[in-house]
Formats: sequence, structure tokens, C-alpha cells
Amino acid sequence: MKVVVTRKFPDSIINPLRDKYEVVMWEYEDKVMPRDLLLQESKDADALLVNLTDDINDELYEQSPKLKVVSTMAVGYDNIDVAGAIERGIKVGHTPNVLTDATADLTFALILASGRRLLEAADVIRRDEWKSWAPFYLTGQEVSHKTIGIIGMGRIGEAVAKRAQGFSMNILYHNRSRKREAEETLHASYVTFDELLERSDYVVLLAPSTPETKKMMGHEQFAKMKKSAVFINTSRGTNVDEEALYEALKTNEIYAAGLDVFDQEPISADHPLLKLPNVTAMPHIGSAALETRMKMAQMARDHIIEGLEGRDLTHEVN
Ligand code: NAP
Repeated sequence: MKVVVTRKFPDSIINPLRDKYEVVMWEYEDKVMPRDLLLQESKDADALLVNLTDDINDELYEQSPKLKVVSTMAVGYDNIDVAGAIERGIKVGHTPNVLTDATADLTFALILASGRRLLEAADVIRRDEWKSWAPFYLTGQEVSHKTIGIIGMGRIGEAVAKRAQGFSMNILYHNRSRKREAEETLHASYVTFDELLERSDYVVLLAPSTPETKKMMGHEQFAKMKKSAVFINTSRGTNVDEEALYEALKTNEIYAAGLDVFDQEPISADHPLLKLPNVTAMPHIGSAALETRMKMAQMARDHIIEGLEGRDLTHEVN
């Protein structure tokens, strides 16, 4: 059987596949496998080990009649037509849980960096502009004791709430379904979307990318936030209307934003949001801790073996 791997992985990850199957692996770790090559190699493939940069859609399924497994090294699977896969009996695997803590850590790092203006302050020293301590120099917003509002109280949302407890924050959340257990264990209060926007000092978006969540943060939502509030997005860029966010930040309708994800990735240095001093931007590194990425890669690899051996995938999307 043939397995196509769309990024270069270490031997320790790929050798267990090589022992069993013919493996075609793209030669770069940091470059997307060209679409035409992916389509070409998928024609007789039994399984694909993909990433969030690969568009796995009808065009690919139609020309890959042997395909049995699509395994992505991510928890989000908005790049994969899951319904189309299920229709054709193709199993889709993803990598939840192993990246929860790393992504929650990065989310909290963005909360601290955006509230306390860490990047702006670090740049002051790099530009050799630090002249003196001053009473109100580079003052930001407190994090401790403030109100955090988590939109999408899933695995990562709960892990962020756990960290917020350590900062004595008041925790609000909004979700499609209520999480009674989280309400008890994390002392989180369920509120409507509007109430969360109106009351939170830190609005943290952690809902998946779906048709329902597309641009769920737009002009109307930013207008409801406090002028002193900070917006954090570590979910997917498509969940935010970036023009509306730019306007809200530029006109000081909100205080700052910490962003790990963007509508069209990668963004370049001339992206309008990067022109604003109150934006802390990261190149989609939510789960980018070495141990985490190794666990994600192992899990994604194991899903291929499980699927090709006719077993259920440990973490199957359905
Ligand atoms: P999860 O456990 O599935 O949590 C997602 C939560 O969002 C669920 O509680 C879900 O509620 C809720 N939700 C869904 N639609 C919603 C809506 N319309 N309004 C409000 N809440 C909604 O997923 P996770 O593991 O926490 O991951 C969350 C997302 O983070 C992923 O989908 C991915 O896009 C993103 N992510 C980003 C990075 C990064 O590198 N920046 C890393 C990992 C993950 P229900 O339970 O009621 O459906």
C-alpha cells in the first residue's frame, strides 16, 4: 500500500510506515507540497498524512479511488471535506488533546503580551530608546483579577480557563452547549455571546472554523467590547472579519489584539494589522512546542496504520 506524506518528517516518525508501506514523502519541512504533485501522488495512494496547509477536497477524492485514510497533524480539520470523505468510506483522523496545553500556554502568552505591551516594550530597548523609568511609561492593562471571556469552551478553552484561575480571573464563557462540569470545576459562568463581549476584559476566541463561526467577530461584535478590552484569537483566522478588527484597533474601539492565526496564511510584513502597535502577531505557533509536535506527528502516523489495518482510528472525525 502507498502512503503520501505532505511534509518532511524525522525518520523516527516515518520509519514505522516505511516498514509496512511504500512511502512517498515531500522533501521539505517548511514548504507546502505543490498541489499538482499532491494530486499526482494521491492517484494511487491508500493513505495521506497531511497538514492544515493541504486542501483535501472533492477534486482529490475523485481521482484517488484507493484512498482509505486521511490523517491530519492538527486538531482543526477545516481544510478537509469530511462529509465527502465519509461518503466515500475514507476515514479522517486528527490530533486532539496532545496539543491542548501547548496551545493554551500560547493563548495565555498572547493575553500577557497584549495586555502588558510586551513586544512594544521589547522593541523600545532594541531601538535604544529606553531613557528612564517613568511613572506611566508603557503602562498596559492588568491581567490578574480581570474578566476573561472564552468563546468556544472546548478542550483548549477549558485549559485556558484553568490558567486564568491561577491569575484570579473572573471566567465567563460562551459555547454552543453548556458545560456544567466546567462551570463547577473552573468556576466559569455561562453567558450569551453579547454579554460575554460586553463584560470581558479579555475576549478569547477558541471555537473551530465552521460555516457557523465564519467571521463571527465582526464590526458589530467589536463595537460591543469595552474600549479597554483585549481580543485574542488562537482558533482560526476565518472566524474574524480582519477589516473590522483593523478598524476597531485603529480607532481605539478596543485596546489591543493578540493573534496567532489569520484569514489568509501566511501573512507578510505589509499586512495592515502589522502596522498597528497594539497588535501582537504570531505565525500560527499555537502548538509549536517540540514535544507537542512530536506527539502530534506520532498520533497522525499511528492513525494511518490503524486505518490501513482496518481498525478504528483512535481520534476519528465523524
Ligand atoms: P474542541 O474541544 O472541539 O472545542 C471547540 C469548542 O468550540 C467546543 O466546546 C464547541 O462547542 C465550541 N463551538 C463550536 N461552535 C461554536 C459556536 N458557533 N459558538 C461558540 N462555541 C462553539 O476543540 P479544541 O481542541 O479546544 O480546539 C479548538 C480550535 O482551536 C480548533 O478547532 C482549532 O481551529 C484551533 N486550534 C488552533 C491552534 C493554533 O495553533 N493556533 C492549535 C490547536 C487548535 P460544542 O461542544 O457545543 O460543539
